[in-house]
Amino acid sequence: MTSGKPSYIIIGAGVFGVSTAYHLIKKYPDASVTLVDRDAFDADSRVAASWDWNKVVRADYDDIVYCQLGLEAQDIFKFDPLWKPYFHETGIYWMCRSEYAQDVIDNYKKLGRNADLSAVPIDEARKMYGGLFDDADYTGVKEVLVNKTSGWAAAGDCLQAITRKAVELGVKYVTAEIATLQFDDRGRCYGVKTATGETLSASHVILCTGAFTPKLLELSAESSGLTDLRAGPRILAGGITEGLTQLDDKTYERFAAMPVGVQGYTAKTGPFIGSLPPTDGRELKWWGQTIFKNTQEVLPGRHISMPPPEPDYAQWKVPGRLKEDIRYANNVFYGSKGANWKLEKHRICWDAFTTSSDFIISPHSASEGLYVATCGSFHGWKFFPVLGKYVLQMLEGSLSPKLAEKWAWDRERPDPSLNADWPRMEMKDLLDPVRTSKL
Ligand SMILES: Cc1cc2nc3c(=O)[nH]c(=O)nc-3n(C[C@H](O)[C@H](O)[C@H](O)COP(=O)(O)OP(=O)(O)OC[C@H]3O[C@@H](n4cnc5c(N)ncnc54)[C@H](O)[C@@H]3O)c2cc1C
Repeated sequence: MTSGKPSYIIIGAGVFGVSTAYHLIKKYPDASVTLVDRDAFDADSRVAASWDWNKVVRADYDDIVYCQLGLEAQDIFKFDPLWKPYFHETGIYWMCRSEYAQDVIDNYKKLGRNADLSAVPIDEARKMYGGLFDDADYTGVKEVLVNKTSGWAAAGDCLQAITRKAVELGVKYVTAEIATLQFDDRGRCYGVKTATGETLSASHVILCTGAFTPKLLELSAESSGLTDLRAGPRILAGGITEGLTQLDDKTYERFAAMPVGVQGYTAKTGPFIGSLPPTDGRELKWWGQTIFKNTQEVLPGRHISMPPPEPDYAQWKVPGRLKEDIRYANNVFYGSKGANWKLEKHRICWDAFTTSSDFIISPHSASEGLYVATCGSFHGWKFFPVLGKYVLQMLEGSLSPKLAEKWAWDRERPDPSLNADWPRMEMKDLLDPVRTSKL
């Protein structure tokens, strides 16, 4: 498998991995492409951040690179029959406490893109959408960015459909936990070893392992002795809570056509919070404001942030303080309207973060044959249709110098204090107190 024709093992079937597999098999229908994940792609519950009820799809970015990338992805969501069923163009209602609205509008202009978006004064905005957001917290808000062309996607369904399509086109899907990467005597990566001891080989091994990436690299550094494999300060595993309420029939009628809601803050005051329109199951979703790491000893003397060790990352075991975070989000969007809503479902979702929130799409500098494509940094899902196109360009050395530098494994990294979404708290400080019974 490693000699002759190029072959590919992609570890991780989230948006980075599936998009890569899909683009590879479309471009090279005879290629050997293997997608490995610990969870089956149609499992009832998965650990992938990409597997979710829904995700915001937007090009509303103050960074022009992601604005352009968002537009490219959104064009596919809007017009390609494969992707279209999963996209809902409901619009977005973004309460801005900085110059964000103007920056987004300027970026659309610079890119020559006409769209129905504007910065609306608060008084006027409050009356929009039947006054759904008139009870929101507008403290410090300068204006509201309303972009009628943004929206959301049914994330889990879309992920499953594109994976199925890639498999139909010839991608091999293997359900297995990868224990370590495998290296030859010269330190070249030639494959992976599963937790049950099986070895898979290919000329290219691509890590799309999300929040698990630092742990896999630590374990592989330990078993191979290649210490430069470690992610170090490049990647931090972080968790965020999401929660849902099921709306009753009458409330659903009112909220069914709502836009995505965003409460935007500044780097000093905290991360942005979102509320997504109800799904077919009438469930309205929020994500919270508390973003945390989970620093643990991965190997003797080595401490990194990583998802909890349970096979499901303990994602359904949500402590009271994090449930409270969702209640807070409910309040700053809907105030008295949502005061009596029952918040029934909660989940902790783990993603890989970089200090600049830029992805890593790059060869790994410590080993030939090893590549990294992940670090969605809490905003990667919406680029699903196009991520693989750029991963292929990276593999083929044709990524533009600007993107190659922005997404490089080794690059200048800004101080995380400038990043509102950087995980700051420790999970251990958020857990429920353990009750010990006195006999
Ligand atoms: C609460 C929350 C809300 C978000 N909302 C949005 C949003 O609205 N819009 C948006 O654009 N983005 C959003 N994001 C960000 C987005 O979900 C992520 O950036 C993106 O999904 C990351 O994709 P990925 O492929 O890198 O990782 P993942 O989707 O996490 O996939 C990684 C995969 O690798 C597998 N894996 C890892 N290690 C191994 C191993 N050793 N062996 C086998 N398999 C392995 C895992 O099982 C997993 O399936 C949100 C993130 C969170 C946490």
